[in-house]
Amino acid sequence: TKNRPRSEALYKEALQHIVGGVNSPSRSFKAVGGGAPVFMKRGQGAYFWDEDGNRYIDYLAAYGPIILGHGHPQVTAAICRAAENGTLYGTPTELEIEFARMIKSAIPSLDKVRFVNSGTEAVMTTIRVARAYTGRNKIIKFAGCYHGHSDLVLVAAGSGPSTLGIPDSAGIPMSIASEVITVPFNNLEALHAALERWGEDVAAVMVEPIVGNFGMVMPKPGFLEGLCAAARSHGSLVIYDEVITAFRFHYGAAQTFDGLQAPSLAAIEPDLTALGKIIGGGLPIGAYGGRKDIMEQVAPLGPAYQAGTMAGNPASISAGIACLQALAEPGVYDRLDQLAARLEAGLAEAAREHGIALTINRIRGALSTHFCDHPVTDYDEAQNTDGEQFARFFRLMLEQGICLAPSKYEAWFMTTAHTEADIAETIEAAGRAFSVMSAAG
Ligand code: PMP
Repeated sequence: TKNRPRSEALYKEALQHIVGGVNSPSRSFKAVGGGAPVFMKRGQGAYFWDEDGNRYIDYLAAYGPIILGHGHPQVTAAICRAAENGTLYGTPTELEIEFARMIKSAIPSLDKVRFVNSGTEAVMTTIRVARAYTGRNKIIKFAGCYHGHSDLVLVAAGSGPSTLGIPDSAGIPMSIASEVITVPFNNLEALHAALERWGEDVAAVMVEPIVGNFGMVMPKPGFLEGLCAAARSHGSLVIYDEVITAFRFHYGAAQTFDGLQAPSLAAIEPDLTALGKIIGGGLPIGAYGGRKDIMEQVAPLGPAYQAGTMAGNPASISAGIACLQALAEPGVYDRLDQLAARLEAGLAEAAREHGIALTINRIRGALSTHFCDHPVTDYDEAQNTDGEQFARFFRLMLEQGICLAPSKYEAWFMTTAHTEADIAETIEAAGRAFSVMSAAG
């Protein structure tokens, strides 16, 4: 069992100065029974060490960006080189062109891109651009998909199959929430019904093409095709939020991924795409882009305004270039896939052995674990899982030096730094955790 007196003390101190002691609510342990989160001090490869010197195998990967592990030498060198030349100019740089080219060649639906500072900004701006282009106000989103914390997308489903939104947060006017329609993921009938009712006012249908925010959930075969066809028949744009998915499963995005299922995810292209996370190599970044005539709505060419003091800063761009270069090496994604497959098999076997009901959704190098005995294909099914079991599992794993996200909805992310020994250690730890959980009933 790990002792964490310094984390406890730092948490008390943090609470005095930082709201909730954390700079993002997902870092708090509120969803897993509360108490002090672990304060990390150092990361190297697949591991990080907390303030008390305990080591953890990291499957959080900072909620996705750290796909190369911590302190990747090429990324670190790129950041240092950038810093030596000054971290921000407020002028364009050649690096931005190089990076835009790299991203465009991996994701051809992006005729033009713009770099911003976070996934939230990227998504928020795609909505503005879609509204500017279509002259319409409403958007349709899917229950349980997370698109950042801007007003429009922080709206949850009410009851019923397709509903006008109710704010998911205080401080969001009903007038804004009422511009958002939420429908269940993987449910074309509900989408059709929403478009029948509100279609003429819908600027865009926004979707995570592969969901990463209520576990890892694939679109059912035909769902994205149907979504795109339905949106277009009503004159609405399609926005893919690929903040989690881009460069996660292969060198490209979900929209360029041939081979996960038939019809291929690459059979259709969105009009606009939001990016973030991995493309910054661990530094703050976001990006959005899409069809030329739509992107030309953006200032200085067009009437839709979007700007950023920090946007395209040389440190983030340099880290991003180095990260994508490392990911472009042959075999990288197959190895992530193989490691995750081994982890999935080991977890499933350990759960069976101890009579623990566990559904594992794995997509290449990302997987999610759901304490339930049914499949998880939409948000209702993801909610209808045992959160207390997850909390127990999370803590038992943490005590054995395995770090997961403190939420039953989050994925485990494989990094290029994980080894087979790490996976074996993790499976053993899970076996011990399941054994404790099954003994507790
Ligand atoms: N979209 C998706 C799909 C995300 O998962 C997230 C963050 N988890 C965001 C947008 C927001 O990105 P950021 O936290 O960088 O603002």
